[in-house]
Amino acid sequence: MGGEDYYETLGIPRNADDAEIKKAYRNLARKYHPDICKESGAEEKFKKINEAYSVLSDEQKRRQYDNMGHETYTNASRGSYTGSGGFGGGFSADFSGFGDIFDFFGGGQRRSGPQPGADLLMRIQIRLEDAVSGIDRDIDVMHTESCPACSGSGSETKKQTTCTRCGGSGQMRQATSSPFGQFIRMTPCPHCEGRGKIPEKVCRQCRGTGHTRVKRTVSVHIPAGIDNGMRLRMEGYGEAGDYGAHNGDLFIEVYIQPHERFTRSGDNLETTIDITPAQAVLGTSVEIETIDKRHIELKVPAGIQYNTALKISGEGVRRRGKPGDLLVRVKIVTPRSISSEEKELYAKIAELEGKDHGGGGFFSSIIGGKKKGKK
Ligand SMILES: [Zn+2]
Ligand SMILES: [Zn+2]
Repeated sequence: MGGEDYYETLGIPRNADDAEIKKAYRNLARKYHPDICKESGAEEKFKKINEAYSVLSDEQKRRQYDNMGHETYTNASRGSYTGSGGFGGGFSADFSGFGDIFDFFGGGQRRSGPQPGADLLMRIQIRLEDAVSGIDRDIDVMHTESCPACSGSGSETKKQTTCTRCGGSGQMRQATSSPFGQFIRMTPCPHCEGRGKIPEKVCRQCRGTGHTRVKRTVSVHIPAGIDNGMRLRMEGYGEAGDYGAHNGDLFIEVYIQPHERFTRSGDNLETTIDITPAQAVLGTSVEIETIDKRHIELKVPAGIQYNTALKISGEGVRRRGKPGDLLVRVKIVTPRSISSEEKELYAKIAELEGKDHGGGGFFSSIIGGKKKGKK
C-alpha cells in the first residue's frame, strides 16, 4: 500500500518548481473532486492529491520529504496494538493527557452506500532529544471499531436487508417545482442514512450502528529527524467504516517542545557556551554536554571572537545516513566583579593596549578601532 510517492501522485518530475506543482494540483483536484468525479475511488484519489500537494507546496515540508523518503515520511511503523477496549460509551474526559484529537477529513457530505471511516488527526508533543534520536511512543487513542457482537453489521443475525424506502440506492429524489421548471434533488435516505442497507435485527450492543467506541494504546515509532508539524500516518487506525467499507487513518501530528539548551535548525543543533575574556584571548578547552547527555571536549582556539560558532560534526539530528552537526556558539562574558589582583592585571593590560595603539587611552582606541574597522 501507498507505494506511490507524492511526485507520482501529482504526475510531476522531482525537480518540478512551485508553478508546475500548483498547476498539476489544480488540474487533478478539478478532475477528481468528489462532487464532479463519479469514478469509484475518486474520493480516495482526491485525498491523496491533497495530501501530496500539502507537502510539496510547502518548501520546508518538501525538503523534509525529499530527505526522508516517502516511506519514512508518511508511515509510522505498524506497531503493536494493545487494547484496553470496551469503553463503549462515547468520549471520556481523559484525552488531555495525550493530545488533541479531532475529525480530520470528516464532516463532508455523505455519499450513498457504505461509508468509509473518517480519518483522525491527533497532535502530540515530544521533546527535542526524542526528535533527534527517534523514539517509540505509546499513544492512547479513542476511536470506533467494528462492534464485536455483530461483526460490524449492526445486526444480531449479522445479516442486512436492503432498505425498502430507497430500494438500496441510499438516495431519495426530492422534486420541487419552481417557475423555471422542476428540480430533482438527491438527498440521503433518512431511513438507512444513505447506506442502502439496514440491519435485519438491530444489534443491542451497538444499537445497529455496527460500531463501538474503544480506547486503544498504539505503539508508534517516531523516526529520528522528525520536525515540527510533520504527520505520521497509521493506516486503518482512524474511525471504523460502515460494514464493508474501510477504516479511516490516524494521522499523528508531531510538535517539538523547545529545549532549554539546544535549538534546532534543520538537521543541525545549536547551543552556546560562556567563556571569560582571558579564555577568549588565550584559548581554552571546555566540556560540552551533548543533547543525549554525553560529554565531549571542545577546544576553543586563542583569539576567538564573540558569537563565533564552533562545529562538532555528527552531533546534530541523527537522521539515517547523514547526521547533522552541533554548532557551539561562543559568548564572551565580561566579569561583573573582580578581585583587586585581577583589577591590577586588567589595568596593566589596558596600559599595554594603550601603548600598542599609539597611546591616548580609552577614547582614542575606540575611535581608532572604528576607523580601521575590526578584523
Ligand atoms: Zn434507504
Ligand atoms: Zn453490534
